[in-house]
Amino acid sequence: MINGWNHYHTPDSVEQAVALLERYGGQARVVGGGTDLLVEIRRGLRKPIEALIDASRIAGLDQVTRDGDYIVIGCGVTHTQIIRNPDIIRCGTCLSESCGVIGGPQVRNSGTLAGNVAHALPAGDGTIGLLALGGEIEVAGPSGRRWMPMQDSFKGPGRSFIDRHREVLTRLRFKATGAGEGSAHHRVMRPQGLCLPIISMGVRLKLDDRGRVQAVRISMGPVGPVPFVAEEAMASLEGKAATEEHFKQAAEVALSSVTLRASKYRASHEYRARMVRSYLPEILARAARRAVDTRDPGP
Ligand SMILES: Cc1cc2nc3c(=O)[nH]c(=O)nc-3n(C[C@H](O)[C@H](O)[C@H](O)COP(=O)(O)OP(=O)(O)OC[C@H]3O[C@@H](n4cnc5c(N)ncnc54)[C@H](O)[C@@H]3O)c2cc1C
Repeated sequence: MINGWNHYHTPDSVEQAVALLERYGGQARVVGGGTDLLVEIRRGLRKPIEALIDASRIAGLDQVTRDGDYIVIGCGVTHTQIIRNPDIIRCGTCLSESCGVIGGPQVRNSGTLAGNVAHALPAGDGTIGLLALGGEIEVAGPSGRRWMPMQDSFKGPGRSFIDRHREVLTRLRFKATGAGEGSAHHRVMRPQGLCLPIISMGVRLKLDDRGRVQAVRISMGPVGPVPFVAEEAMASLEGKAATEEHFKQAAEVALSSVTLRASKYRASHEYRARMVRSYLPEILARAARRAVDTRDPGP
């Protein structure tokens, strides 16, 4: 075993991928761009594996498509494709912003959104962006295909309810933002370049015609073992005017509902809290400005 695996397969179809996984009986693993998995194998952080099943070359799953209100992203779609897609830039802005901060160009050219979500880190950037949009994922396995809320796939840090030895995350989707809706993402990180975020936050917000918050979703990470949806902060904003004061209050509610981590190399608990206080109101305001810009001008 030279590379850390014995066989590398590039199936053309989902059925073939699932059949290959079954054939190896738990000794194979799905790979996308390999920017997490292959690095882990090469660093010896993961045991060598009998076979890798590459899901990034399955026919038709290397594209972003529309299905009614949904924008659908195949598991072979890279971060670069996402940040260049006009439909996502306009109707899923926070996803394009969050994928745009991942790594450097080489990582974005090979890393996939599916890999980011399946890896299940508490603050995967694309994951935080898609979570704010209310993303869903399609998983294919021996018993067929099913759609589920992406939020329900996270089990713990790096642990997913998707069985990556037997199942393939085939597609991701979210409802495109429409009139009166906007979204935004921001990540705070140390300035040295490629490293994990101190805090990553995403917002999707809909305004009514009087400028009040009709619906809002706020995602954050890392603030716990899995990517976090700030339900209490969201509830505190609904029906309120989209003002700086209310956005600041929502940041306080978000802070009161989480236990922020302190990490030796990244940030203290207090610093993370300051970043939420500083940036969450700003991200909410940015999403609200975008919501105003997309409002139906009326007759
Ligand atoms: C230098 C560097 C910088 C980075 N910077 C960032 C960053 O700023 N932000 C960030 O979030 N990430 C970052 N990453 C991590 C990584 O690039 C991303 O998480 C990327 O999206 C992973 O996608 P991938 O396709 O390469 O996943 P892979 O490495 O192929 O797979 C990751 C995991 O997901 C599983 N998997 C992959 N695809 C599927 C599928 N279709 N179905 C089921 N399971 C699947 C694999 O088995 C594995 O467990 C960085 C990585 C590097 C090397």
